[in-house]
Amino acid sequence: MSVVQVVAILGSIPLFSLRAFLPAFLTALLLTYPEYFPGLDAVPSLPEDAFLSKDWVLISLGILSILEIVGDKSSEIRNLLKNAEPYFKPLFFLLVNLGFMDEVSVEILQEVQLASFDPLWILLGLGTITVHWLSSFRRDFISFLEDIDEDDNLFIGKITSWLEDSLVLFGFFLLIFTGLVMVLIYFLAIAFLVYLSKKYERKLEEQKTVCPNCGESNLPFAVKCYNCKESQPAVHAIGILGQRREKLISDVKKHQLNLISHRKCPDCGNKLSSTKIYQICNKCGRSLFVSPSEKEFLKHQDRKFYKITALSFVLGFIPVVGFLMSTVMANIYLFSPYRRYIPKGSSFLTKLFIKILTLLLFILGIALGFIAAPAYIIMRYFIWKRHFYKRLEKS
Ligand SMILES: [Zn+2]
Ligand SMILES: [Zn+2]
Repeated sequence: MSVVQVVAILGSIPLFSLRAFLPAFLTALLLTYPEYFPGLDAVPSLPEDAFLSKDWVLISLGILSILEIVGDKSSEIRNLLKNAEPYFKPLFFLLVNLGFMDEVSVEILQEVQLASFDPLWILLGLGTITVHWLSSFRRDFISFLEDIDEDDNLFIGKITSWLEDSLVLFGFFLLIFTGLVMVLIYFLAIAFLVYLSKKYERKLEEQKTVCPNCGESNLPFAVKCYNCKESQPAVHAIGILGQRREKLISDVKKHQLNLISHRKCPDCGNKLSSTKIYQICNKCGRSLFVSPSEKEFLKHQDRKFYKITALSFVLGFIPVVGFLMSTVMANIYLFSPYRRYIPKGSSFLTKLFIKILTLLLFILGIALGFIAAPAYIIMRYFIWKRHFYKRLEKS
């Protein structure tokens, strides 16, 4: 067991918890062509017939890395792989590190002599478990971010994805050039993130209010206790990102419409996991769209639509920024409440059509925002409303 090996194993832990193929590809590239990486004479060269330096392995890993980078930008693909990632990432970590081992270790692997047990195996085992734990932590963290920005209106999903790609690339070069320094920096950063998430969980727990009737903890937005159905005395308003606001509500109906807009139960405030329109809250048993009804919800949306369209006309007089502000606002307040009840994955042509149209309107919006912004909002609003109507008819 050499120092280089220990640092390599420790350093690849954070990289493999972020991406499976990219660090594998970079490692294979380094081990096959160390001459292209200046100042890396200390890297042990791979044996001729090593798996990682085979051409087809290198090419496949390269293609898979590109697919991984592109695929992670789509929330549909991300969601598809979400639950498998904490298992295949540690597997990749283990495979690549086995390929990185020197011939002596490989011999040990072949003979499996317990007497000459290399402590490297323990490190590798612990590393694999750590990758599993870290990628589960990452999955939960990303789900939390997606909860805030479910439709990627604020581009949080895309920004974190690019950030992760650069962290893998940057971390890899930091690792091969600075070794232990990279390990330290990355583990300190992870420790800080774990601390923040624990703090946030505690905060959410503290924000809950205790029902005066039965003593159960309720969400701060709950109109009625999920347990005994008693009306709650102090109900907090809900923010645009689904967070608790300090303000207490006075208009219950309006608050319930806001909860429905976030696809939360109008009584207990529980986040509903299904996109179905007519469903029952699995926490308190309340039926959705009974009171407030779907008609009241549509009216509530229409009222916001008139206000925001008028506002976008005024904002449109500010070049570029006015148009951008209008589209973000429309996405958050007008389209998202409908979109949350429509399953993801509209057809490719619809997506393309909307992209081209948005681009054209954006160009128009540079100078003529007062026409482009309302046009964008009116068109997309009616497309989303029609989708919602269709779902209503089907249910
Ligand atoms: Zn209660
Ligand atoms: Zn409920």
